[in-house]
Formats: sequence, structure tokens, C-alpha cells
Amino acid sequence: MKITGTLVNYYIHCKRQCWLHGNKVNLEDYSELVKIGKQLHHNKLESNKNAEISIENIKIDKIKGQYLVEYKKSNADIKAASWQVLYYLYILKKKGITKKGKLICLEKNRNVKKTLELRLTDEMIRIIEKTEKHIKELILSEEIPRVKIMAKCKKCAYYTYCAL
Ligand code: SF4
Repeated sequence: MKITGTLVNYYIHCKRQCWLHGNKVNLEDYSELVKIGKQLHHNKLESNKNAEISIENIKIDKIKGQYLVEYKKSNADIKAASWQVLYYLYILKKKGITKKGKLICLEKNRNVKKTLELRLTDEMIRIIEKTEKHIKELILSEEIPRVKIMAKCKKCAYYTYCAL
């Protein structure tokens, strides 16, 4: 099983979301919020044509100088987005490429910086290696994590399914 940056993001955001996505339950194509996010993301990449880079199972928005750059529609879950970037840095590091991370949120929230800089530490690498293992176990589990409706659920593609 290939772990992706999206799975890492979802694992931090919500275990149930990670399980659903990892088991190919895809409602994202029907979510207006996800469509808007993808369009914003697409527009940003269009202005940096040919910038997106695929390495194995990950897709990096851009590499510019010493930075790996990732764009997000909002800073609604900055922690999950940060671990996604750190995961990309980890994959690059395994290939002998050392970069710093830059997370850019396209919709500005007054309380949180629009751009966040990230550095991968040895401690973070240990956490990522454990997280990869936990994600695999979670996805292979036949038991779907229970619904725990939170404020952030309203922006999730699975909301209509979970809130039934
Ligand atoms: S709606 Fe909430 S509980 Fe359901 S998958 Fe999304 S974040 Fe998780």
C-alpha cells in the first residue's frame, strides 16, 4: 500500500476520513468545497505551469530554490496540512534531497499566518515512520472509525455521509 500526502493529512485531520479515502470511498467529486479547493489549487498551479512534480506516490506543488511549496485553499487544519508537507520533505530526504517546507494558504485567516515555514527534524522523521505504519493498519482494518462530528466536519467531503 502506498501512503500519500493526502492520507497523512486525513490521518491527522480525522481517522475516519483517512479510512474512507484509503478504502476508495470517494465522495470528494460531489463536494462543492472540495471542487472550489481543487479549482483554486489548479489556478495557482496554472500560473506556475509545469511546476507540479510527481515522485513515486506523492505530488508536490512546486520546488523553488531551497523550498518545497504546498498550496492550500484555507488554513482550516494547519496541523494536518503541515504534516502533509513534512511527509513530502521526508520522502525527498529519503531520496537524498534536503529542502525546507513552505505552506501557503490561499484564503487568509486573521489568526494564522498565511505562509508557514517548516523544517523536518529527526524527531519528526520518527513520528512520520510510526504514522505510516499506523495509517496502513488503519486502512487495512475492517472497522471504520466512528463518526465524531466536530466543527471542522462541515467542510469535509464526507459530511453528508457522516451526518446521516
Ligand atoms: S465528516 Fe467529520 S467525522 Fe466524517 S470523515 Fe469528515 S471529518 Fe471525519
